[in-house]
Amino acid sequence: MKKLLVLTAFITGLSVQAQTDETATIKSIYTHALTKQQGYEWLRKLTGMGGRLAGSDEATEAVKAFQKVADSLGFTTQLQEVTVPHWVRGPKEAAYYTLNGQRYEVAVRALGGSIATPAEGLTAEVVEITSFEQLDTMTDELEGRIAFYNMPMDPAFINTFFAYGSAVKQRYVGALEASKKGAVGVVARSLSSSINPYPHTGSMTYAGADQQIPACAISTLHAEQLSRDLKANPKLEFFMQMAPRELDSVVSYNLVAEIKGSEKPEEVIVIGGHIDSWDLGTGAHDDGAGCMHSLDAVWLLKELDLLPKRTLRVVFFMNEEFGLNGAKVYAQRSKEEGIDHVIAMESDAGGFTPRGISMVAPDSIITRIRKLRDYLEPYGVHEFSETGAGADISQLKSDDLVMIGLRPDSHRYFEVHHSSQDVLAQVNARELELGSATLAALIYLLDKYDIVAL
Ligand SMILES: [Zn+2]
Repeated sequence: MKKLLVLTAFITGLSVQAQTDETATIKSIYTHALTKQQGYEWLRKLTGMGGRLAGSDEATEAVKAFQKVADSLGFTTQLQEVTVPHWVRGPKEAAYYTLNGQRYEVAVRALGGSIATPAEGLTAEVVEITSFEQLDTMTDELEGRIAFYNMPMDPAFINTFFAYGSAVKQRYVGALEASKKGAVGVVARSLSSSINPYPHTGSMTYAGADQQIPACAISTLHAEQLSRDLKANPKLEFFMQMAPRELDSVVSYNLVAEIKGSEKPEEVIVIGGHIDSWDLGTGAHDDGAGCMHSLDAVWLLKELDLLPKRTLRVVFFMNEEFGLNGAKVYAQRSKEEGIDHVIAMESDAGGFTPRGISMVAPDSIITRIRKLRDYLEPYGVHEFSETGAGADISQLKSDDLVMIGLRPDSHRYFEVHHSSQDVLAQVNARELELGSATLAALIYLLDKYDIVAL
């Protein structure tokens, strides 16, 4: 054991004594997180306030409620005004098709930003599209018809975020591309890694489209069923009815909660997630978990008297889902105020068991962060990758900023993501708390050993 410690100490450049002390300190962080479960209690409070679609009262109320929480913990807080789009879903969507005289109801929900169908609904034949190459070869097949994108997430990916990334195009530009071929509507397969009856919504764009057409997500279960039935009857007619509207944009807020550093207050470590969510669930994993991870991590350090030399900022970013408005405002304001961010951390990949981190930083810093792995491995945190860090903090990107994203286990994330299933019951308190403790341990180690770019 001694030999191992000496070897590890040699690798990390720490003395054996320091190594032993740090191991105990980090253990205390994880123990406190698992024992108190404060982050989970806050997540209960947050999800109890409902879904937090950007522009909704619920989203703004959530920011204000957590400003009060942060105030009560002794943070210095501010709300930063953010102008956000205000899209509302309207009454529940309806869809069905008829086959051999029988009507089959299917679960659909409008994609975020979609226009409405005519009030009486839209009925048309359906053309299934299984690749964009196929779409490219189409001439008039989509004219007056509904484009049904049916491209499953590839189950071969170990990290499901890559499967999501390679399938998301059908949702994001599906309507835009189908409208160019004369389609009158879009039904896009939900981006879910399992077969389930829940539609998964998400953002889409009409940018550059001559013709806007309504677009909805269909559950994977019903996408499979529709695909089968289309083979039996390619002429079957599909009915969809939805009435979302784009209202005037509104003012909402980022929450910025700060604790001044004791020795290097001018250097700022920022950690955050996005407070807005989709409206179908309560955004428990996406990204209530990330916001609570961030607040919880700083709370843990404060409780255990481990606050860093540098200033800590927790930011709840408003409106990641509809265009990163909050992150852009935060970056702009920071620039104007001359805020010197040295480390930016983000949690926006769910509240499942943390498996690792992903880093964006100069090579020399990445080498040093990799050496911290020994401290976190006992807690299952061992995958140190360089595959981005986070959408919100990416707005702060600069050559000397160390960016880190938490990487929880991803296998179940896309079963709930953007659907009615993204609720507190899907979050395990221990798994969530391990994420908070991991972020707290990282802040502690990075600050203590000055693992920042100079
Ligand atoms: Zn998110």
